[in-house]
Amino acid sequence: MPYIPKDDKKSLDRSIAHISTELRKGDFRGRLNYTISSIFSTLLQSNGASYALINDFIGVLECAKMEAYRRVAVPYEDGKISANGDIYPPANTIQTHCLDCSEKSAVFSKNGLCLTCVMKEAGFDESVRVISPQDIDIEELANTQSEA
Ligand SMILES: [Zn+2]
Repeated sequence: MPYIPKDDKKSLDRSIAHISTELRKGDFRGRLNYTISSIFSTLLQSNGASYALINDFIGVLECAKMEAYRRVAVPYEDGKISANGDIYPPANTIQTHCLDCSEKSAVFSKNGLCLTCVMKEAGFDESVRVISPQDIDIEELANTQSEA
């Protein structure tokens, strides 16, 4: 949670502005890592190494990462989806019911049919509830069964 009280920011903002100015000069990646690692090192030296400190520091990094993702990366990615097109189906169009029998299911064929309807279409009657994982080609299996 980077949204700290104004008074807490006051004592940090000048140092942050200075570091930010330095990081803007060229590739920031290694130097930002150095900055964060150096801050961690000074915290370890002043507080002593402990699981609690290590856990707290890593937790802060993780929360800062997630907030940056939530506030900056998500809107950026959404803009790229609008500009270049999506690759995922919209969440509100993910299929939940069979297009033929309207039964709720988790798995559908390419044509939007549930397994029962796929098997019915392939010639199985409703008494068949299970097929073997080896039965890859249901239609061929149905033809074999109807010949027998
Ligand atoms: Zn169905």
